[in-house]
Amino acid sequence: MRITYIDFDGVIFQNKEAANRVGTRCSQFFNKTVGIDNEKYQGSISNKMYQTFGHTVYALKKLGYEACSDQFNTHVYKNVDPKKLVGDVDDNTRKTMKEWYNVMTELDNVLIYTDAPHDWIKMVNETYSLELPDHVRVISSQDLGYYKCQWEAYTMLPGGVLIDDSLRNISTASEYETWKPVIFGQGLHSFTGDKVSMISSPNQVIALN
Ligand SMILES: [Mg+2]
Repeated sequence: MRITYIDFDGVIFQNKEAANRVGTRCSQFFNKTVGIDNEKYQGSISNKMYQTFGHTVYALKKLGYEACSDQFNTHVYKNVDPKKLVGDVDDNTRKTMKEWYNVMTELDNVLIYTDAPHDWIKMVNETYSLELPDHVRVISSQDLGYYKCQWEAYTMLPGGVLIDDSLRNISTASEYETWKPVIFGQGLHSFTGDKVSMISSPNQVIALN
């Protein structure tokens, strides 16, 4: 059975406040490294770089900075009280996560991916008192030495069904025969196309396999 890759941030864990808090800390690390202290530009430059390159550390390397992912992880994820980063348990977020984890028990070969270190997923699950099904594996883009070239991931990994909320990731994957990209978004009409499909609820994944 082919692998089903599911994006953690924005698909399984759909909490915008937590995403904003992580984003703010990524910006801080970027600004500190580059030396941007003019408040006017602090958010806009780092956001643009993140959107263009897909990861703060990768963006910094592209600019010629000696950006170390350990320092980045420490600043963004470790030097902070998990409660302040993940936030309080939100019932809607928890419901969606639970639905995903239930659906995963029906799939033999599931891999969750994140740009964050593995501890991030652990931190979120602990806050929400949820557990990944035993057979589910986790991969971080950091495991792949991702920073050399973002789209290399699609040639380094065996292909499969890719469920993501980012159009950039979906369009990159759609260039490779072995990948079946699926856009996930609540409120989307479900659609199955030759290249790209769309779903709006976790249980629709079963029909894609
Ligand atoms: Mg995402």
